[in-house]
Amino acid sequence: MDFNLTQEQQQIREEIRRVCGEFRDAYWRDIDKKRDYPDAFVRRLTELGWLAALIPEEYGGSGLGITEASIILEEINRSGGSATVCHAQMYTMGTLLRHGSEEQKRRYLPKIAGGELRLQAFGVTEPNAGSETTRIETTASRRGDRYVIHGQKIFISRVLQSDLMLLLARTTPYDELKDKTQGLSVFIVDLREAKGKIEVKPLDLMINHHTNALFIDGLEVPAENLLGQEGVGFRYIIDGWNAERILVAAEAIGDGRWFVERAAKYANERIVFGRPIGANQGIQFPIAQAYARIEAADLVRFQAATKFDRKERCGAEANMAKLLASEAAWEAANACLTTHGGYGFAAEYDVERKFRETRLLTVAPVSNNLVLAYLAQHVLGMPKSY
Ligand SMILES: Cc1cc2nc3c(=O)[nH]c(=O)nc-3n(C[C@H](O)[C@H](O)[C@H](O)COP(=O)(O)OP(=O)(O)OC[C@H]3O[C@@H](n4cnc5c(N)ncnc54)[C@H](O)[C@@H]3O)c2cc1C
Repeated sequence: MDFNLTQEQQQIREEIRRVCGEFRDAYWRDIDKKRDYPDAFVRRLTELGWLAALIPEEYGGSGLGITEASIILEEINRSGGSATVCHAQMYTMGTLLRHGSEEQKRRYLPKIAGGELRLQAFGVTEPNAGSETTRIETTASRRGDRYVIHGQKIFISRVLQSDLMLLLARTTPYDELKDKTQGLSVFIVDLREAKGKIEVKPLDLMINHHTNALFIDGLEVPAENLLGQEGVGFRYIIDGWNAERILVAAEAIGDGRWFVERAAKYANERIVFGRPIGANQGIQFPIAQAYARIEAADLVRFQAATKFDRKERCGAEANMAKLLASEAAWEAANACLTTHGGYGFAAEYDVERKFRETRLLTVAPVSNNLVLAYLAQHVLGMPKSY
């Protein structure tokens, strides 16, 4: 049992910290205020190769593991930024790597690694299906050498900032299926060729997330852009869930550490009643409590990541890491806000922005309720609750 990062992992952490140091609080605050996309930041990470961490070397990436990818995302959030602006390239990578054909990988991966193409959009959620993905209604019908897609998606992030999107659509009607997890397929959609066929309606959300409703009407996708086999797309999506949960956990750990550091600093500096507010247990205990919870969640995150990279089963650990880390980050956010008093609500302190951003991690990309349902059913053997 070794709880230390390798020298290479430590170097990655330090290098990301250094790059993020080029994009300070004021940068993120301004982007948030203007509801902009942090293009300069994403381009810098891309040109340094960090967003190609999970792409194998033979396709132009660095062939790192999920452990290293998670350190990259953690450090972005820990620096005060938001890894959500670019994490999808890592979330979705496994689907393409595991299930894409050699031809598809050669066509897309080197360009993604080199920054020529962006794959930051992932279209799964629909208004009528919600968390019940097997109920999605967007249909893809085969017409000769193409699929024609009609339907509606909701909460699809970074469509306007991406060249490519992975899209989940129904290829067999729900009522015709014995096994309801079948009948869905994943497509690589070239958004540059989709103009006029996908209406993208940006959503006005609590956070700056570049998230949209999509109205898809007669989108034609070449059959060669089907990923893997027709009808087993839901399986491919599930295959990516452990990686996704580990990466979200790391982002939450990064947020949690940012909140704890900011809170402890402010608690030491702010003098009220003639002494630092951090001398009061009402201020210091919640910060210490959050710190302990973040450290505990971090151990589960590294356990999950290590198992993932060793290709061992890690569903339980990945789900627990996501649950514990997102809750610990939210606890740290509250402690930090309380510590800052009224200033916690002032944009210039950045607490309110990070507070809004970290809350998302308990809900998306998967709600903690469904994480608990997974643990209850698949780990503890209790009946399905839905
Ligand atoms: C900012 C943002 C960005 C997003 N980006 C993307 C994206 O890029 N691509 C994409 O495909 N999706 C994206 N999503 C969608 C996100 O994954 C979903 O919002 C999330 O999975 C929950 O689905 P829902 O909102 O329909 O909630 P619902 O399924 O309607 O659930 C509502 C509440 O009920 C609970 N609930 C439902 N069923 C059960 C049950 N059986 N047991 C216990 N509780 C239950 C849920 O946990 C949740 O708390 C994004 C969402 C947000 C907010």
